[in-house]
Amino acid sequence: MCGIVGYVGSKDALPIVLAGLKRLEYRGYDSYGFCVLNGKPFLFKQIGKISENSDNFDHVKGNVAISHTRWATTGEVTKENAHPHSDCKEEIFVVHNGIVENYKELKNNLIGEGHVFKSETDTEVIAHLIEKYFSGNLEEAVKKALKEIRGTYGLAVISTGDPEKIVVARMSSPLIIGVGVDEFLVASDPSAIITHTRQIINLDDGEIAVLKKAGFSIFKEEKESQKQIETIDWDIEQAEKGGYDHFMLKEIMEEPNTIEDAIRGRLILEDGNVKLGGLFQVEEKLRGINNLLLIGCGTAHYACAVGEYMLEDYASIAGETDIGSEFRYRKPIVNKNTAAIFVSQSGETADTLAAMREMKEKGILTLGITNVVGSSQARETDAGVYTRSGPEIAVASTKAFIGQLATLAMLTVYLGRQREMSVVTGKRIVSELVNLPNLAREILGHREEIKNIAEKYKKYRDFWFIGRKYNYPVALEGALKLKEVSYVHAEGTAGGELKHGPLALIDENCPTIAICPSDSVYEKMIANIEEVKARKGKVIALATEGNEEIKNIADDVIYIPKTLEMLTPLLSAIPLHLFAYYMAAVLGRNIDKPKNLAKSVTVE
Ligand code: GLU
Repeated sequence: MCGIVGYVGSKDALPIVLAGLKRLEYRGYDSYGFCVLNGKPFLFKQIGKISENSDNFDHVKGNVAISHTRWATTGEVTKENAHPHSDCKEEIFVVHNGIVENYKELKNNLIGEGHVFKSETDTEVIAHLIEKYFSGNLEEAVKKALKEIRGTYGLAVISTGDPEKIVVARMSSPLIIGVGVDEFLVASDPSAIITHTRQIINLDDGEIAVLKKAGFSIFKEEKESQKQIETIDWDIEQAEKGGYDHFMLKEIMEEPNTIEDAIRGRLILEDGNVKLGGLFQVEEKLRGINNLLLIGCGTAHYACAVGEYMLEDYASIAGETDIGSEFRYRKPIVNKNTAAIFVSQSGETADTLAAMREMKEKGILTLGITNVVGSSQARETDAGVYTRSGPEIAVASTKAFIGQLATLAMLTVYLGRQREMSVVTGKRIVSELVNLPNLAREILGHREEIKNIAEKYKKYRDFWFIGRKYNYPVALEGALKLKEVSYVHAEGTAGGELKHGPLALIDENCPTIAICPSDSVYEKMIANIEEVKARKGKVIALATEGNEEIKNIADDVIYIPKTLEMLTPLLSAIPLHLFAYYMAAVLGRNIDKPKNLAKSVTVE
């Protein structure tokens, strides 16, 4: 999820990898580390930013090095948990991006075989597995170790026992090789190395490469892969954004992966259930809960509102959503069967934290959903679930919202299965969660159409967003996103509320975006669209693929694939994120850093 940079060649490796790591600063990370080989290994790990370090490493010489910036997924943010991780004898060093799903089981087995662990990370099992299989040839040991690993990885491994090489491997976590003259680099992100070389090779899933000063070879399942060397002509700024014009677009494009990362290793398809490790210790307490307060601010608040519908429909739990800044001053009626869940991307949102502390004071069970391991919220709540959405750089939250929704859907299945939800219903939801990333990719494939719609509507200065039930909070999210990044006035309303006031503002100058998938409230949404049309309002409808009839009423239609009603927000939010982005782009706004806004709102 965060960064890897490695070097093998004839130059001093450390300055090169450190320069690369600094290039990855923009992504955000919690700790970092490196290992340089020169006979003996030199290992260094630290919490915080590389730029804050005042140590002098001039004496650290060696032509082989690996380095890492960590975005913790498993284990707190500590020096011990920073990478590289090593085996028992400190001869094998591993940097890893991603998540080893079966690390607990592997760790127990390895401990049983006598291995001694120094960290709480999933990554350390890789180092010990390689140690187990190592008999002089590093790539052979890596290959055997990887056969036992389930999950995602971008890996770089070095060893004093086979010291002239770096072995790298990829599975669902980006990794590239930088090709130089008598030198090779490995990086998770081209921006880390393009000041050194622009010749790169993209590794594919399942490939393992061996990099030596004299050359490299790439294998997949014992067969050598023939790969093209590509020349990157991006400038550094473009490289950081993965070739997109803005982080916001890059992050929207990552939304399918965000779902995949959130559900990875957590679904039990055969039981129609999910396992959420972070809730394990409160499992019994959760059985007695019949009332769940869901608290968040901004986009996270809308995720909570979707969660409330999910929990009521499928977990028979009364949900109540509120904004952190309001909730903290209320006198909520709670009892011993109440729990509160706090949702925040950063886990540092001041209003949400204040509300959480208030609930702790009242002795209520507190849970958290956050993206940042070790954040204040993660530390202070009784239990919680990480969304694993990776660093989000754009101020306007997009993929983190999708990660929160996916997590709330899993929480619903978990709590539902503790109560009345049948295996059949559980199976239906978890198997649809597995399908969802591909459905999300389909929507992104049509982004040009959404761009054209933004172009067509760019002159309007007021928009209305409407939705019902699960898509009512999504209408609010669509309006918020449009306001945040394009500075165009937008309001979100429940479809049924139009006639109670907002309709007075609808005319040919105020288009309405109507979220109307073919679900239980579709007919009602059509009635609302007709109300808008009767006032000469233009309508952009978000409808389910195959719905041709909608074209007769709406001016423009954006299609989303069919899914379960409770999961539609994970799809319907995507075109709205894209619409906000393209509106902001066509209006020339400062998309990634909108005026007056900050990413993590740590003030009350
Ligand atoms: N899962 C690993 C950890 O928590 C890797 C995290 C990363 O990708 O930075 O240490």
